[in-house]
Amino acid sequence: MRCPYCGSEDSQVKDSRPAEDGAAIRRRRICPDCGGRFTTFERVQLREIFVVKRSGRRVPFDREKLSRSVDVALRKRPIQPERVERLVSGLVRQLESNGEPDVPSSVIGESVMEALKGLDPVAYVRFASVYRSFREAADFQEVLGEIAGGNNVTAAEADPPAPHASKPADGKH
Ligand SMILES: [Zn+2]
Repeated sequence: MRCPYCGSEDSQVKDSRPAEDGAAIRRRRICPDCGGRFTTFERVQLREIFVVKRSGRRVPFDREKLSRSVDVALRKRPIQPERVERLVSGLVRQLESNGEPDVPSSVIGESVMEALKGLDPVAYVRFASVYRSFREAADFQEVLGEIAGGNNVTAAEADPPAPHASKPADGKH
């Protein structure tokens, strides 16, 4: 495994242990060249999944990208990392088992919202407001990349909860 810090082709496994209820192997690695430490996961991949963007472009599904967008929504929330891992694994398993090799990006967005709703209401609102405000204008996978690298979530935090999009925004009753 290539070192993410210095790009050295060599790294040594210091520790391997089961993770995610045995669904993955977690390996702690160290780079002999720069001393950098990092973690890798080995997981079963049942099928190859492709995301079909709004533009019709088809790209390989990226678990890390999904994981990052969930992390952003959960930033500073008191949720254990293991529960987050399980949520992401559950989403991926869901995608793998739905039978279709091609999954529209909108389906992934809706699945993430559903999963977050059950885990943490604040994260759900953050994700939903970012996702809903971007879905018309931009492709979901591109938005994921943007929110993973930027600070768009701050603006989303100010938004009120909107569990039903069909409800008109007529203020307080
Ligand atoms: Zn290195």
